[in-house]
Amino acid sequence: MKILKFGGTSVGSAPRIKGLLDIVDPKERQIVVLSAVAGTTNVLVEIGQAFTAGLKDEAIKLIKEHKEKYEGLIAELFSTADGLQKGKNLIDYHFNYITSLGNELFTTTEERAVLAQGELLSTALFHYHLEEIGVPSVLLPALDFMKIDEDNEPIVSYIKEMLSELLDEYPNNMLFITQGYICRNSFGEIDNLRRGGSDYTASLVGAAIQAEEVQIWTDIDGMHNNDPRIVNNTTPIANLSFDEAAELAYFGAKILHPQSVFPAQKYNVPVRLLNTLDPNAHGTLISKEGGDKGQIRAIAAKDGITAIHIHSSRMLLAYGFLRKIFEIFERYKTPIDMITTSEVAVSLTVDDTKHLEDIIKEVEDFGRVSIDYNQTIVCVVGDFSANMHGYAARVLDAVKHLPLRMISYGGSDYNVSILVDTDHKVEALRSIHNRLF
Ligand code: ADP
Ligand code: ASP
Ligand code: MG
Repeated sequence: MKILKFGGTSVGSAPRIKGLLDIVDPKERQIVVLSAVAGTTNVLVEIGQAFTAGLKDEAIKLIKEHKEKYEGLIAELFSTADGLQKGKNLIDYHFNYITSLGNELFTTTEERAVLAQGELLSTALFHYHLEEIGVPSVLLPALDFMKIDEDNEPIVSYIKEMLSELLDEYPNNMLFITQGYICRNSFGEIDNLRRGGSDYTASLVGAAIQAEEVQIWTDIDGMHNNDPRIVNNTTPIANLSFDEAAELAYFGAKILHPQSVFPAQKYNVPVRLLNTLDPNAHGTLISKEGGDKGQIRAIAAKDGITAIHIHSSRMLLAYGFLRKIFEIFERYKTPIDMITTSEVAVSLTVDDTKHLEDIIKEVEDFGRVSIDYNQTIVCVVGDFSANMHGYAARVLDAVKHLPLRMISYGGSDYNVSILVDTDHKVEALRSIHNRLF
């Protein structure tokens, strides 16, 4: 069985929704995972923010405007009176629900319920469209099988069990449709897998049912060797290993949700990145084997990084020092991205600053602390194994005109990362690109 995930632009308009059948073969047993219609989640975020801020009129205005967009969409999508009525009832239901949430005490629980409406809408619209044209499909409610635990980690065993039960109810059906992004949390409330999370859904579903392949259909012909929004002349990469893809996704390549490679990797399900606008393009195949060895694959950048520098004479010759520091971050459930050490100091980076103040207070017991905000990790992924001399030097040579805050090499065989002030990110990406490709 294959999993096909379509992102926001791939379901961004009535012609696009109809066009999914150019790619989806209704005679093959598969699960189609859909994102919200392009732009919808951003508007839902705004609506949630307006309700949170007590700006009810502003929220209602946004709801009304957005509902009108959907009215235009269904008018184009459905051609029968029955189909149109179903579409109308659907959007009335969801937009009334969003409005009603604003009448209650509006907490993060209601906010997450608002955010979930985009995927619920897009999947139902596709399902009704198929119904109208006589193609059988089953709508699988993601809220019945996607679940995260109290650390926001997906529970694969639960997903596996619930999804298998659901699928077993339809032994003769071919085409299943489900929502990306949304899930339930450990309280049973509606939650989500963070922005861009539909990729993660697809990978988790693929892992849970041991799919033959996960296909991520988007608006570009695969993973490029640099961020195409920033650098000209980027080119698609035909093959990536799971490790390389995970590294690129985690360090900012927006085409994939940061965590989305891990489930596929763990259960060895190949992932293909494909272009809805050019379905015959090769795209990128992410697999255990990956591409040819000895090459540099790609560059990515992750913004919003905070660097913490701890200077301590007590580190000198002391064992257990790093453990004590790391334990503080662990207690505050704050992941560390990059780390460099010297005999008397350690620098590390985080992107989650929710508990930064408390962390710093505790870390200050161990030494002098200084902090740099607005930093960017620029990550170069490829074959950096020790026998490939010269590659790391070329990366550093390309940024010799820029101030570097940290350099990380040797943590894995496939990554060199540097930390720069975000003001220097664009120059770093372009300069390394020109030097390497
Ligand atoms: P979707 O809505 O289909 O999930 P996204 O917008 O999340 O699509 O991801 C696709 C976009 O990711 C591309 O349009 C491109 O601008 C951006 N992107 C950033 N870095 C890369 C990269 N290295 N390779 C390909 N696309 C990238
Ligand atoms: N609709 C969600 C978002 O915009 C999830 C996704 O598109 O992957 O973040
Ligand atoms: Mg995306």
